[in-house]
Amino acid sequence: MPVYEYEHSGEGCPSRGKAFEVEQNINAKSLSVCPSCGCPVRRLIPLVHVSTPVTDSKYKEMGFTKLVRRDEGVYENVTGTDGQSKYVERDKPETLKGLTDNIAD
Ligand SMILES: [Zn+2]
Repeated sequence: MPVYEYEHSGEGCPSRGKAFEVEQNINAKSLSVCPSCGCPVRRLIPLVHVSTPVTDSKYKEMGFTKLVRRDEGVYENVTGTDGQSKYVERDKPETLKGLTDNIAD
């Protein structure tokens, strides 16, 4: 059975904000109150199903290069590190300085 995560959400609940896990049948209704203290709870969305937008710094951390189009043929390297050009212009290979190692087609 899948495990669902709930969080105490009741105003004035002494356990407010505390999360707990409950094993439930996939077809079971989600709990509205905590089985142990009776406070209102809300079910948290399983983390694996959350699609959080990946930040530029995260991309950078993961070793990706992200280019954002700024103008016709001009791309900003938003994940640029020291030694890499900030802007990349189409048809200008010299603006790709430091990027050749990262870009794979
Ligand atoms: Zn509780």
